[in-house]
Amino acid sequence: MIFQKKYAMLIPVKKDIKVKFSNYFIPTLKEEPSGVDYLSQKLMLKSGMMKQVSSGLFVYLPTFMRVAEKVCKVIHEKMESVNAVPVKFPILVAKEDLVATNRWDAYGDEMFRLKDRNKKEYAISPTNEEYACFMAKNFIKSAKNMPFCVYQIQQKHRDEIRPRGGVMRAREFIMKDAYSFHPSTQSLDEYYIKMENAYKEIFNTFGLDFVEVLADSGAMGGKECHEFMSVCDKGEAEIAVCECGFCANMELAPNGVCPECGKPIAKVLQGNEMGHIFKLKTRYSDPLNLTFINADGKPEILQMGCYGIGVERVICSIIEQNNDARGIAFPEIVAPFVVNIITANMKDEAQVHLSEEIYHELTALGVEVIWDDRADRLGSKLADSELIGIPYNILVGKNATEGKAEFFARCGEKTLLSKEEIIAKYKK
Ligand SMILES: [Zn+2]
Repeated sequence: MIFQKKYAMLIPVKKDIKVKFSNYFIPTLKEEPSGVDYLSQKLMLKSGMMKQVSSGLFVYLPTFMRVAEKVCKVIHEKMESVNAVPVKFPILVAKEDLVATNRWDAYGDEMFRLKDRNKKEYAISPTNEEYACFMAKNFIKSAKNMPFCVYQIQQKHRDEIRPRGGVMRAREFIMKDAYSFHPSTQSLDEYYIKMENAYKEIFNTFGLDFVEVLADSGAMGGKECHEFMSVCDKGEAEIAVCECGFCANMELAPNGVCPECGKPIAKVLQGNEMGHIFKLKTRYSDPLNLTFINADGKPEILQMGCYGIGVERVICSIIEQNNDARGIAFPEIVAPFVVNIITANMKDEAQVHLSEEIYHELTALGVEVIWDDRADRLGSKLADSELIGIPYNILVGKNATEGKAEFFARCGEKTLLSKEEIIAKYKK
């Protein structure tokens, strides 16, 4: 397996391998999937991105892997931009460590639990605050070592009572979780704003319509946590939006009044949570006695923040906002392939020859190309391309004898171009 040099992380992608449809694996469905709650769920099943194997459990197929890798790449870059460094925490957390922070009981039935051969109890970590503190313990000695932030992109598990929406609410999912450490609340506040901006950049990069809302921070209280919600008519959460620009989780505006300016709530939007940022302050560092030596030479409990992004929720949100009756209309930045070369008739030597030339030349330029070299009917090949969501197509048909092919954006107008003109589009 070839891992990307920079990000030897969760998702390996063989970037240098040319992809031919005939020996790849994109099992599109002709029939409509049944029992779906979300359009994104239907389209991901139908376009062969994933397959459900059990309640709330899915196999992610090659096109999903390519999309996820691109989403993760943007997340990695933005984490790097706020000096967060990649780590990987264990998935298993010992019971006593969660007891120490009162999470063993607080988490209830949503957390998976298991025993090892010596009957020692563990949980499958919902998040990794405890181990983040353990990791920081002997490393952070003074304020000079902070702010310090680590992150991982890793599988998470939740024992959902009723998994729904496909991977929108599954029992296993991929999450980016980051943990920051600070010598003061001021340092935490400053870093929190940087992270908040990095989150906005991430969601803007994907062209998402989203809002940042003040969320209920539960037991912690105060204005200490924000959610990033993608706007979606069938979204599972309600967002109160005020004329003053303030957006809040409906629980914070239950009386229809803006908690910020006191005016009546102007409108209510539906949305799906994609990210959540939180000022933990000393919620975990205090019970775990995570301290640093302050300016007075005394040990002081340090401040923490945590920051999550649900990778599948980002992918679902992109699909919810970019689709039509024919399928997914992926933006180029996350599309599994950028160009699909469709050969109309694989028995026609001129067509095969021209397709092959374009395929080799575009791949040499680093363009993410798939060649639909299947012997199938042209109509079904075009339908698959629209369903999968490939932004551009090159249809090699009867004009192949003159060295020409039709170039067109997904569902767009066709332009007859020479091979050279097509290649020139990508020579930059
Ligand atoms: Zn207001």
